[in-house]
Amino acid sequence: MHYGIDVGGTKTEIAIYDRDWVCLDRWRKPTPSDDGEAFLSMLTALVREADRRCDGRGTLGLGFPGVLDERGHLITANLSGLRPFVLKTALAAVLDRAFVIENDSRCFVVSEAGPGGAAEGASHAFGAILGTGAGGGAIVDGRLLRGGGRFAGEWGHLPLPAAAARDYGLPCPTCGCGLSGCLETYIAGPGLVRLHRHFGGASSSAEEWHVAWRTGEEAAQRARECHLDLLGGALANVVKLLSPQVIVMGGGLSTMDGLLTALPAAIAAHLFPGVETPGVVRSRFGNSSGVRGAAMLGADVSASAGNERI
Ligand SMILES: [Zn+2]
Repeated sequence: MHYGIDVGGTKTEIAIYDRDWVCLDRWRKPTPSDDGEAFLSMLTALVREADRRCDGRGTLGLGFPGVLDERGHLITANLSGLRPFVLKTALAAVLDRAFVIENDSRCFVVSEAGPGGAAEGASHAFGAILGTGAGGGAIVDGRLLRGGGRFAGEWGHLPLPAAAARDYGLPCPTCGCGLSGCLETYIAGPGLVRLHRHFGGASSSAEEWHVAWRTGEEAAQRARECHLDLLGGALANVVKLLSPQVIVMGGGLSTMDGLLTALPAAIAAHLFPGVETPGVVRSRFGNSSGVRGAAMLGADVSASAGNERI
């Protein structure tokens, strides 16, 4: 059996998969995000309970909304209480098996490029999650791209192009990551609201923008056009760097009316003439891809002679 754990800011989910990646069981616990000891106990209890339900000992992969620094500290805005811990050491001391820890967006692309996923069979794929933030991960030559600093794929924190700032008169807001003018501040859900207000609208949520857009309000239309242009440019940057065969979109915003059909042309507008635009497809496993990809990475680690790769 293979276990995947997806740690969220409020809930942590564990799922059990068989060798054909059929999900046999899954359940959730609240995440004690401000108490490191309680967090470790919760993770251990989830794994022990999975062992009990399987009557065995499964492989294990954990997906987190953040990155591990070179010492194994977890860097994440949502789990402030974990910062004192060297997470990999603390976990290794209580878990009796090899395991892998990975950023949840990268788990997403592993799942979607794996068996049954929307990018199954692609040796070069990019997974882009667009919700309250913009995260991502890449498969290059059939393997997950980690990069030397372990944060490859953070496309949302590339800067807003100067030409876009000029053409639309956009300011450069401070991003949650601490930088200014990141693309995420405009292309993620809150960014749509920001754009709507910039063009004279009055929404306070992406849902409200959506209602205004459907009624044909001019500010909402302009926000949509600008958003599509910025998003196309952001993904074109990914294409220029990695040349994926397919881009898999996930997250709440990826389900927006007509977005996936409009994206290839929006991407092509920011590429060189004659360059082939990759296919843009919706994720097959949606929110489950984080836990599923984590389980797949955990299975890989166990298969490689118990070499712990975290
Ligand atoms: Zn940023």
